[in-house]
Amino acid sequence: MIDALNQLGELLLDGDAPHANGKLDVFDPTTGDLIAGVATSMVDDCLAAVETAEQAAGGWAAAPPRERAEILRRCYETMMAEQAQIAALLQLENGKPMAEALGEVAYAADFFRWFSEEAVRIAGEVRRAPMGDKRIIVLPEPVGVSLQITPWNFPAAMPVRKIAPALAAGCTTIVKPAPATPLTAYYIADLMERCGTPVGVVNLVLPEPPNEATVAMLAHRAVHKVSFTGSIAVGKHLLRLAADRVLRTSMELGGNAPFVVLADADVEVATEAAIAAKMRNTGATCVAPNRLYVHERVADDFTEALSARMAGLTVGYDRQPDAQVGALISTREREKVAGLVTSAVDRGAKVVTGGRAPDCGGYFYEPTVLADVEPDAPILAREIFGPVAPLVRFRDEARAIEMANDTDAGLIAYVMSGDMGHGLTVGEQLDAGMVAVNRGIISDASAPFGGVKESGIGREGGFEGIEEYLERKYVASNW
Ligand code: NAD
Repeated sequence: MIDALNQLGELLLDGDAPHANGKLDVFDPTTGDLIAGVATSMVDDCLAAVETAEQAAGGWAAAPPRERAEILRRCYETMMAEQAQIAALLQLENGKPMAEALGEVAYAADFFRWFSEEAVRIAGEVRRAPMGDKRIIVLPEPVGVSLQITPWNFPAAMPVRKIAPALAAGCTTIVKPAPATPLTAYYIADLMERCGTPVGVVNLVLPEPPNEATVAMLAHRAVHKVSFTGSIAVGKHLLRLAADRVLRTSMELGGNAPFVVLADADVEVATEAAIAAKMRNTGATCVAPNRLYVHERVADDFTEALSARMAGLTVGYDRQPDAQVGALISTREREKVAGLVTSAVDRGAKVVTGGRAPDCGGYFYEPTVLADVEPDAPILAREIFGPVAPLVRFRDEARAIEMANDTDAGLIAYVMSGDMGHGLTVGEQLDAGMVAVNRGIISDASAPFGGVKESGIGREGGFEGIEEYLERKYVASNW
């Protein structure tokens, strides 16, 4: 078994031995095999984690920013030094191809690096009031203990994208990883401890099911903030809980990204962008193009080029080392994807390539292109979260923009155009927190990631990321 799994040592439970707290089984999605059992947390364990975070909060907030920065920097360097073994662990529990697992670890580590640089640049403000009667002093202060809940699709990047800014700002945290992929988060917590993070600053919990413990933790007076990445439905539930205590919230929720190929698009550029955006993590990303609107002038060429590229991708059956497409996270997810394809086909969509769930041990679905999808087909209305690209033809650009905006989500939109001015003009009209023009990958620790409408509240990364963990205290003074 891989080194990283051995390193988790005591955390993993033996075989069928029961555990007093209950046990969570973790599976390899590429084979369906059981890889590990992890003890789950009881409600009391979670409340104890809150208290530990509360006790550590004062010392951590008071620590010199440079000290916090240097710990985060060491986390970056150690994560990169251990990139291969973390990627192996991440791949084992998530099922993504090795190249992507390595990429995710580097992306995650970059949040440690970026926020180590931000930790020493938190600025306040001093000015004279317009009436000249006082000085206005604005002091940045850490929000305090934060609960951070993450999904399974990026088991390293999602926790680090939350932990790094929180620690840089001087907050302590309780982290709840997804039940399908908890091992990478445990590895990262251990790595952070090895890099000098004081005990109690980062506390991992794994309550399963999570609701009762979450309700209890959010009701605890020490908790001041909840940061969540996951589905819109769970995000709304957490917002309701947060409302009871008027907690600060950051919500990175689901998307329903339009990918608009304009009449003047370069088909090759658009195809490569579509492959990169759609197929990352086997389509299971919040930023995956969910609806591809293609102008009729380029529709045939784009459909052919995209289908040829999709059909040529190597799927990772039997743990193929050079795989380009991984497995979905569970049989349930695979059935959902298959059901959406069937419903689109029933309404007249044409399967150009793929369209099947292969008969093998893992939770795979073939890279699929659907042409002539009806604009009101159900597959366009909810996140597919799988390797399926539904194409809708359009003639009128204004109508394409209208269709693209006809959703409650607003995370990201893609625009393909041979004319940058044209692409940017259309991009401006799309309701999204992020727009990608002529490219498929936008994630970057130094850029503000987040959505509008039901896709969320707040931004992660960029200069904005640390603000999610800061309060601004106004001090009025006569100098
Ligand atoms: P999910 O909402 O089912 O679960 C996310 C996390 O919330 C998991 O850890 C889960 O255990 C936990 N959770 C679920 N119910 C809870 C409750 N009642 N109390 C406390 N915790 C609870 O989402 P998922 O299926 O794990 O992830 C996929 C979703 O995440 C998609 O909608 C995707 O778009 C979204 N996502 C968004 C971003 C972003 O940055 N906007 C990034 C990645 C994924």
